[in-house]
Amino acid sequence: MFCIKCGGPATVGNFCSEHFLEAQKLFEIKDFSYIYCNQCGIDEKDLRGKISRSIKTSHKITREKISLRTLGNRVYATIEAEGVIKGLKKTETHKSLVMLRQKMCEMHVRLSGGYYEAMIQIRGPQKESILKKVKQVVPEKAISSIEEIKEGYDVKIMRKPNAAAAAKALRERFSVKDSYKVGGSKKGQMVYRNYYAVR
Ligand SMILES: [Zn+2]
Ligand SMILES: [Zn+2]
Repeated sequence: MFCIKCGGPATVGNFCSEHFLEAQKLFEIKDFSYIYCNQCGIDEKDLRGKISRSIKTSHKITREKISLRTLGNRVYATIEAEGVIKGLKKTETHKSLVMLRQKMCEMHVRLSGGYYEAMIQIRGPQKESILKKVKQVVPEKAISSIEEIKEGYDVKIMRKPNAAAAAKALRERFSVKDSYKVGGSKKGQMVYRNYYAVR
């Protein structure tokens, strides 16, 4: 048997390896849009992961290389992949256009609306070191606001677990009194806000 394209020895059906592979598609990738929060920024690792998962193939991919070029709200991705088709190695390069779309994440929507589930009320002569400790324990993104008042600081924390972690750490060196207050209702359910008075 000879290859119908080049007349060389046929290895797969009516083709030599080269011409068999030429007719096979290793993978495909479509354009897609990627939604990100402009406050958090683009997580490039996540974007690369999404590109990688967008590779459509029925073959085994053994290696892939993704390069990105961003222009405005478009990311031009070049995907080079190596794989195996019927025991033969093939490398292909395809391009994909990723349209970036902004949508504020739930956390930042809440933050911009002044949402908070707990408050740390920092008082007394050690207020600066207490505040420092809070900032060490609670990620900046999880702090809704820090308000300086005459008696100290009121730190609004978005999520209760972050506030609880801060309270736990503060208890090692300071006095912490906790209480809660009804902070309105969410979807018909009463919401309790946690308060921690620290000195
Ligand atoms: Zn051939
Ligand atoms: Zn965000």
